[in-house]
Amino acid sequence: NRMFVLAERPEGAPDDNTLRLETAKLPSAGPGQMLLRNEYLSLDPYMRGRMSDAPSYAPPVKIGDVMVGGTVAQVVSSDVDGFNQGDWVVAFGGWQDYALSDGKGVINMGKSPENPSWALGVLGMPGLTAWAGLTQIGQPKEGETLVVAGASGPVGATVGQIGKILGLRVVGIAGGAEKCSHVVDTLGFDDCIDYKADGFPKALEAAAPDGVDIYFENVGGAVFDAVLPLLNPSARIPVCGLISQYNATSLPDGPDRLSLLMGTILRKRMTLRGFIVFDDFGHLYPEFAKQMGEWVTQGKIKYREEMIDGLEQAPAAFVGLLNGEAFGKRVVKLSG
Ligand code: NDP
Repeated sequence: NRMFVLAERPEGAPDDNTLRLETAKLPSAGPGQMLLRNEYLSLDPYMRGRMSDAPSYAPPVKIGDVMVGGTVAQVVSSDVDGFNQGDWVVAFGGWQDYALSDGKGVINMGKSPENPSWALGVLGMPGLTAWAGLTQIGQPKEGETLVVAGASGPVGATVGQIGKILGLRVVGIAGGAEKCSHVVDTLGFDDCIDYKADGFPKALEAAAPDGVDIYFENVGGAVFDAVLPLLNPSARIPVCGLISQYNATSLPDGPDRLSLLMGTILRKRMTLRGFIVFDDFGHLYPEFAKQMGEWVTQGKIKYREEMIDGLEQAPAAFVGLLNGEAFGKRVVKLSG
């Protein structure tokens, strides 16, 4: 069994020393356990948080432990009720070829699911994040303007497409012309602004002539600065992620704009609400799965995946995810 363990906690961006590849004997399933062969490993921004021992909503991975991660796997052998050899499952198998599980939190997809890896994206955790964050916190109303950052990523792309289905004007924010073309031409957003291009704040203002009613926050930093003055009274801001800050080792240089932010929240009576998807909205999973399954089948929601070949490629692909190299959902196909 090959596995990546956390070798040291990164300062800033993870590097070659962060994770270490180890090989161990294949584990065997004991009573009440099943052995899973991981077929796909999901790469997600939250993994950067687990590498760090800074305060968070979840404990960090211990040094020397297998790096955590969502997986799509096949059951090799099982002593767990409801799981049989050959079943495809969604589990939390980690960065390794095989994993043991007691079945807790594992979803059985049966013997031959269509596009099994999609359960790590639009039909799984990122999809639920998009759907629940937008509908529960964003409280969208037809005709309103929604701005979503990280618009070409699995969460952002799904948020914007749901926004279109619900009758909103949807403006994406993404890095580069190619991602922006995809967001408009393929995903059907009304507009997409490249935050790396000159004049970004002005271009964003022009794309939202009626102001912004919902800002779905995935990135933070300079992008939020540009959105803040455009927010309408009673705007809702689902605070989902702040990926621009995940590798930061200190607070950004001044001036201190906290009072500007607080004053804006007060005057505009805005609602900012952070959420952790399974803690806050896990109970909505069945409703989400039914609705999203229909939308995807009907072609109303499109999904772009970037398949990375082989477990050994996972660390570099993860560093790239935090750098903006990913174009769509990054999933590792395990070859072991
Ligand atoms: P993404 O694929 O969107 O994340 C990678 C993308 O983030 C990059 O391709 C890049 O897009 C963008 N990015 C990276 N650095 C910056 C930067 N400095 N400024 C602006 N954009 C940047 O991942 P997901 O769709 O999986 O996740 C989106 C967000 O949602 C993340 O913040 C994640 O942590 C959060 N999340 C939160 C959950 C929750 O429960 N609260 C659950 C799941 C995800 P570009 O090239 O366009 O810059």
